[in-house]
Amino acid sequence: MPPLPSVNMPPDHARGHMDEHADIVIVGAGAAGLAAGIFAAEAARARGPARIVILDGAKRIGAKILISGGGRCNVTHERVTHADFNGSPHIVRNILAAFGVEATRRWFASLEVELKREETGKLFPVTDQARTVLHALTARCEKLKVVIHLHHRVQDIIPQPDASGSPSFLIRHEHGAMSACRVILATGGRSLPKSGSDGGGWSIVRRLGHEVTPTYPALVPLILTPDMFHAELSGVSQEVELTTQVDGRVVDRRRGSLLWTHFGVSGPVVMDASRFWTRARGEGAEVEMRCNVLPDMNREEAERWLKARIAEQPKRALAKLITGHLPDRFAAALCRFLGIDPSMSSGQVTREQRNVLVQGLTQLRLPILRDRGWNYAEVTAGGVPLNEINFRTMESRKVPGMYLIGEMLDCDGRIGGFNFQWAWTTGYLAGRSAAADLHVTSEAPR
Ligand SMILES: Cc1cc2nc3c(=O)[nH]c(=O)nc-3n(C[C@H](O)[C@H](O)[C@H](O)COP(=O)(O)OP(=O)(O)OC[C@H]3O[C@@H](n4cnc5c(N)ncnc54)[C@H](O)[C@@H]3O)c2cc1C
Repeated sequence: MPPLPSVNMPPDHARGHMDEHADIVIVGAGAAGLAAGIFAAEAARARGPARIVILDGAKRIGAKILISGGGRCNVTHERVTHADFNGSPHIVRNILAAFGVEATRRWFASLEVELKREETGKLFPVTDQARTVLHALTARCEKLKVVIHLHHRVQDIIPQPDASGSPSFLIRHEHGAMSACRVILATGGRSLPKSGSDGGGWSIVRRLGHEVTPTYPALVPLILTPDMFHAELSGVSQEVELTTQVDGRVVDRRRGSLLWTHFGVSGPVVMDASRFWTRARGEGAEVEMRCNVLPDMNREEAERWLKARIAEQPKRALAKLITGHLPDRFAAALCRFLGIDPSMSSGQVTREQRNVLVQGLTQLRLPILRDRGWNYAEVTAGGVPLNEINFRTMESRKVPGMYLIGEMLDCDGRIGGFNFQWAWTTGYLAGRSAAADLHVTSEAPR
């Protein structure tokens, strides 16, 4: 793999850029910002030269892309619908319709990134290296002469419409200021703050009149109280149905793989459900997660199944009797946790013990202490409400000429490549729209 290109960084990048002007400034060089830069440059190029500058506060580009998908970058999923996202369904559906999976596949092919599909439907680069994706994005930016200034944290954006009322902006950053005709904000959320995404972009848009709904870690592992048996099962994973109840009402039910870890629980099903727990906890509601470790059965079916197994093999040790459907270590740990000797003969199990076991198998309460925090959350729930942007263009409804994209919006996807899809799609819409608007304005001033 060749080294990452130099991203058009001028040698004086650490000095000020007072009086520098760009047609479009993009704030944030993550997945959404880089996509927006590429699409804006391509759209603008067809009509004439345009100067496009991306500013990012980080010292290195693409930290989050590089660590994504376990270093392999799960760029999208073979099937993406609005149901894979938490966010206004009608708006999400319309946004996805503009640039869906097929368009994304074609786009990656045009970037010379060959993708492969895994059994789960997730799409990865065939190289199994996230670096391939980052390299392709930055190389295309370089080819299109999109300038990227790293170490340029933006502090404020001030709309300064010109005499004809056309949008224009002053962008203050840590080394000075620059002006732009259009601004695209792609500052991400709060997950993995050391990557540069620390929620700073929301302070800027709040000052410009946008609302920001409360934000919570999502796709985050959960820490259990020490009296639970998770630590002894560390590394064991099993298929479960996980139900989240808030103030006694079921808000989420999903099935998938749960991973026991030294601190608690993780794995796709836990990560996907975690946003419901973090949000409810943040709002001070009563929230509970229960686990059915026999996901093909409800309580009554599990009771019938257990009775039949006991009748068939009354001399078999209880934990061994139930392991057919469960990992061995889990069966024994669950029995002990429920106060039942795992080695006792099944035939000696009392009715009360059987009831306790059925309850533990189908409605095991996970004693959650807290989530694992922003350093381990893959994405952010909450952000700028989708109804504050025009979903056809991603333009702000509060500030003409400013566009908002990616994770800073109040929309989060489930595990499987959906969050990157959101970044590519919203980047596509904003990049093309900002470039087109630029020319409409220059050809026919408003
Ligand atoms: C460990 C991990 C693994 C993940 N794996 C996957 C995966 O495999 N598939 C998937 O779909 N999703 C994955 N995600 C989620 C995905 O990475 C994000 O949803 C996506 O990167 C969001 O893109 P973005 O461009 O909106 O924001 P970000 O990638 O967060 O980029 C925002 C950029 O803005 C910059 N910035 C912030 N504030 C300012 C400012 N004031 N001035 C200038 N610059 C600023 C930041 O430095 C950053 O570079 C993963 C996330 C994590 C943390």
